[in-house]
Amino acid sequence: MQRQTTLDLPRIAEYLSGAPNGRTGDYAELDYYPEVDSTMRVARALGMQSSIGSGSVVVADAQSAGRGRMGRTWEAPPGSSLLMSIILKRTDIMSNFYLFPLMAGIAVQRALAELALPGIAVGIKWPNDILLRGGDGVERKVAGVLVESTLQEEMTSGHAVIGFGINVLQDASQLPHVAAPAPPPTSLWLASGVTVDRTNLLLAVWRHFFAVLNLPPARPKAQSADPVFSLWREVSWTLGRAVTVHHADGSTLRGVAVDIDSDRMGLGALIVEDETGARHAVHAGDVSLRADAARAGA
Ligand code: ATP
Repeated sequence: MQRQTTLDLPRIAEYLSGAPNGRTGDYAELDYYPEVDSTMRVARALGMQSSIGSGSVVVADAQSAGRGRMGRTWEAPPGSSLLMSIILKRTDIMSNFYLFPLMAGIAVQRALAELALPGIAVGIKWPNDILLRGGDGVERKVAGVLVESTLQEEMTSGHAVIGFGINVLQDASQLPHVAAPAPPPTSLWLASGVTVDRTNLLLAVWRHFFAVLNLPPARPKAQSADPVFSLWREVSWTLGRAVTVHHADGSTLRGVAVDIDSDRMGLGALIVEDETGARHAVHAGDVSLRADAARAGA
């Protein structure tokens, strides 16, 4: 691939070793693979080691078995993408675990928006698909996020792994075929003609993720919701839209996405109002969401 750029591994390792991940005495490391089955699997295993610091990164140029949500696959030709998993140890606010998918989506949105690609807007489809919209108005998926954890229910042991797949350099022939109405894929290069450096992108996503993670949380017992929810609402391309929710059992729910549940017990569920005015809480683990073509009420 002519546009291929190489990851600057010494620069990433140096950044991570001194990076402000909010913890002292906790050193983040880099674990790089030219090819691996899945950075998620490696990060999950690596996180078990007590010597591995929170914020450590597993990155690969190619994956033979890239994972998506709910057993789906993430496809990326070698060298085309940023394929990274960040390990988070329990010390990193595991009680906020339910916010990690939103935080990770916000981090990617910010890193991509910061690139200021000409004519390109960046938004999030609930819960955390990252979409680009160019001059033709079509919203295309440029990145996906996956959160896994070995945490036990009482959260006294274990770690979380946050996976990022960002399409950077693919041309149209190198993107997977995705059946409508799922968002069609794109890459940063295809959407904008800009060759984005994967090293800079990796560091930007990492930096934004920890910036959001380390935001002062809502005070315990305070009525106010965690600040992450308002950040998410600002960049959401789902709220206010007509959507169809596909449940795993084959049933569907049509309605308008009116909000995200910011109550601690609501776990970031999407609130969908059906035509009778009834509100349904939709949880990310169970469903696929399809935005209908028209903006609700438009
Ligand atoms: P969606 O709503 O797009 O199906 P999801 O959140 O349910 O997404 P993810 O885990 O984010 O699922 O991504 C997996 C899905 O994304 C796959 O089923 C496939 O349709 C699509 N996909 C796989 N590889 C890519 C890629 N490189 N770029 C964009 N989309 C991809």
